[in-house]
Amino acid sequence: MKTRFTEMFGVEHPIVQGGMQWVGRAELIAAVANAGALGCLTALTQPTPEDLSKEIQRVKDMTDKPFAVNFTILPTLKPIPYDEYMDAIVQSGVKIVETAGNNPKVHMPKLKEKGIKVIHKCTSVRHALSAQKIGVDAISIDGFECAGHPGEDDTPGLILIPRAADQLDIPIVASGGFADGRGLAAALALGADGINMGTRFMATREAPVHPNIKEKMVNASELDTTLIFRTLRNTSRMFTNSVSEKVVSMEAEGKKIDEIGPIASGQRGKLVYEEGDSEAGVWSAGMCIGLIDDVPTVKELVDRIVGEAEDLISQRLKSIVA
Ligand code: NAD
Repeated sequence: MKTRFTEMFGVEHPIVQGGMQWVGRAELIAAVANAGALGCLTALTQPTPEDLSKEIQRVKDMTDKPFAVNFTILPTLKPIPYDEYMDAIVQSGVKIVETAGNNPKVHMPKLKEKGIKVIHKCTSVRHALSAQKIGVDAISIDGFECAGHPGEDDTPGLILIPRAADQLDIPIVASGGFADGRGLAAALALGADGINMGTRFMATREAPVHPNIKEKMVNASELDTTLIFRTLRNTSRMFTNSVSEKVVSMEAEGKKIDEIGPIASGQRGKLVYEEGDSEAGVWSAGMCIGLIDDVPTVKELVDRIVGEAEDLISQRLKSIVA
């Protein structure tokens, strides 16, 4: 498949593995790159900017192919030295950055000075247009189905992707709800140049996620996610468990971040992936969890998705027209 996305970013397949806190580590990113897709190392998973520099080097030791670094700007429980993380990224020689969470305007001069291509992930057409105006190279448009932060507009991909395609001039990656070749073919039909997947890549052999959690994902359905932080206007789609349900009930009681934060902290969520206890904290999952039935290698997954989409486009859809 050849799209504006594969051409611009120099990757074989129009597939991105998006940033995922605690999951976007070197082993997964290198496996995605070596499978011909674009992996995003998650900057804030690394405890310090120095650790991020080392993690970027670890990816480079495992692949010669292009990869990106995800840089997310959202409210956090502890202050993040964003400028120092950005310096580590631009000094590392990375060629692609995925920004998310907030307008990346203040970081654009540093990125552009080094010729780094920027994919900005956002959840509305108006934010995508602002990002295009400040010079990002591509937009990852993230529908309501997605894991993590879907924004506050609740617009599903079926509407958001063609709306973005109509309005934007730069390449578009469709994000949220994608897990198979049917999704890829549909995204291309809706006007996107590729797809972004997070949840689907969590259930791969190389993902640094405990096998118990991968098994939970295979057994889950599309009904097993919960929206937390609606009352804080920082909505986040999480796997339904006792902790995400507790957060929602605390919100209903009018509790604020000072009381909810310790329950919903990323440090507790990290234990889920490391120790395999799905009730240890909140952990992100998209609605496409209902489409996940196995734990393949990254290469098996990417090849299968591209193969399915190619067959769909060249055979099934063609035969319908005929
Ligand atoms: P954390 O432990 O600092 O916070 C836990 C959650 O509480 C996060 O969702 C955070 O956005 C939210 N939060 C914190 N302070 C808040 C406030 N004052 N008002 C509203 N909500 C608040 O976060 P973490 O789990 O260590 O994650 C670090 C950062 O990475 C956060 O910004 C998080 O949202 C983001 N993140 C990124 C990805 C990604 O794909 N790049 C995935 C998950 C989380």
